[in-house]
Amino acid sequence: MSWFTKVKTPLEIIGGKKQVPAGIWTKCDGCKETVYSNDLERAFNICPNCGFHHRLSSAKRIELLIDEGTFVEFDADLVTKDPLKFKDSKKYKDRVAAAQKKTGMKDSVLSGTGLLFGRPVSIAAQEFGFMGGSMGTVAGEKLVRTIERGGENKTPVIIVSCSGGARMQEGILSLMQMAKTASALGELAEKKLPFISILTDPTSGGVTASYAMLGDIIIAEPDALICFAGPRVIEQTIKETLPPGFQRSEFLLEHGFLDMVIRREQLKETISSILDYMAPMDSVDIAKTSDAGNDAPLNTGEENNLE
Ligand SMILES: [Zn+2]
Repeated sequence: MSWFTKVKTPLEIIGGKKQVPAGIWTKCDGCKETVYSNDLERAFNICPNCGFHHRLSSAKRIELLIDEGTFVEFDADLVTKDPLKFKDSKKYKDRVAAAQKKTGMKDSVLSGTGLLFGRPVSIAAQEFGFMGGSMGTVAGEKLVRTIERGGENKTPVIIVSCSGGARMQEGILSLMQMAKTASALGELAEKKLPFISILTDPTSGGVTASYAMLGDIIIAEPDALICFAGPRVIEQTIKETLPPGFQRSEFLLEHGFLDMVIRREQLKETISSILDYMAPMDSVDIAKTSDAGNDAPLNTGEENNLE
């Protein structure tokens, strides 16, 4: 089974005569050149020709960010109960079963703990291959547990988003995950532990509208689509042509939505340096003492405005 969606893309053969087995080559979405799938895979799906960032599976994401052999997965067996017994053209239950077979995962989040250059972190990555990385009750619960694990172990929390948003097949229960994850992050903030939010292509809908935009530091990969409603929906609604690069990382950075846009190969080093500033390695004790001695609630100012 392959973790990579792109390697399954049938090859477009230039000249069109020779039959090459599908999967050896991948057509780059950036430069439209064909590249060796192996080269792409080795480079964590960054095109060796043009640097385009193809989607990365949750497992490769963990491999990219976490020191080898240190990742411990948690909550791998959580499965949706299909609370609405939902059915559209297919039963939700069958869609889930197909996604499980395709990805080898029980739901759309891979979560656990590990070391990032020797520093313990609690981490979760969304799997786009599992129903578009959509967030239902299981994904929400796994993300909350990831955040709470950070709180319990006094470690930073990192979440890598890659999602089409809430899982429609779980209706309102999906939307409730927005409040649930946001609330868990509020508790993490009270413990003065950092949350680094990594936004990858695509980050949208209820994910953008909740935890993904609540990072103490929000980092996006280049050219990632980050939005609530997609550009097509907006264009149809307002009946105007959108500016070039609209809702892409660089555009959002320019407009103050992001803290930085970082290339995939520099992500681990960047997160590590940020954490060195935000939570020096000996800060476990500092966090404990400051929590114990400070009963005053965090004043964000925003809350006051709402009241
Ligand atoms: Zn390319």
